[in-house]
Amino acid sequence: MDDKKLKLLEKDLTDTDLEFYLKQELIAVDCEMMGLNVYRDRLCLVQIADDDRNVRLVKIEQGQDLAPNLQKLFENGNVLKLFHFARTDVAWLKFWLNIRVKNYFCTKIASKIARTYTDKHGLKDLCKEVIGKDISKAQQSSDWGGSYLNKDQLNYAANDVYFLPEIYRTLRTMLVREGRLELAEKAIKCIDTMTELDNLGYLSVLEH
Ligand code: MN
Repeated sequence: MDDKKLKLLEKDLTDTDLEFYLKQELIAVDCEMMGLNVYRDRLCLVQIADDDRNVRLVKIEQGQDLAPNLQKLFENGNVLKLFHFARTDVAWLKFWLNIRVKNYFCTKIASKIARTYTDKHGLKDLCKEVIGKDISKAQQSSDWGGSYLNKDQLNYAANDVYFLPEIYRTLRTMLVREGRLELAEKAIKCIDTMTELDNLGYLSVLEH
């Protein structure tokens, strides 16, 4: 990976980065947390990449509850944000930084609706099967809360956004080809409501 295009930042994007990403048609976004419980496990890192793989890793400090430039970028209605399993990232960004992400796409939902011939929809599977790249998920369960992140963690974090634009474009082409894009977009629109219910503690209102 080209290190010049990867920067680690503290607490927020710089104004220059914000201006740069606001000019993009789309960006990939991912978050690392302390665990999988939104109330308990804080947001530790926010990763962003554009189509040309300019990556920013933003460390979120313990107790930090605002990131104005991330907020401006994520709440902007023009830039499309790509997430893999948006439901988690959108929930954490709302709960921990009070950011309401607008105009986003979920590659996991897209994959489930497009690739009905398989049940493999993890990012690693998509990298391998959709764009032919092997990525390691070895650092997935590591401590993201420390003040120092090691090289393996930084590479892992960057990888989670690095390939997403390419995966998005391939899946989108497939959805269009199969006449399933509209359905995928409708399913993705449900995430806002699911997230609101999740964050209020309603866990099964759609079940019997
Ligand atoms: Mn990740």
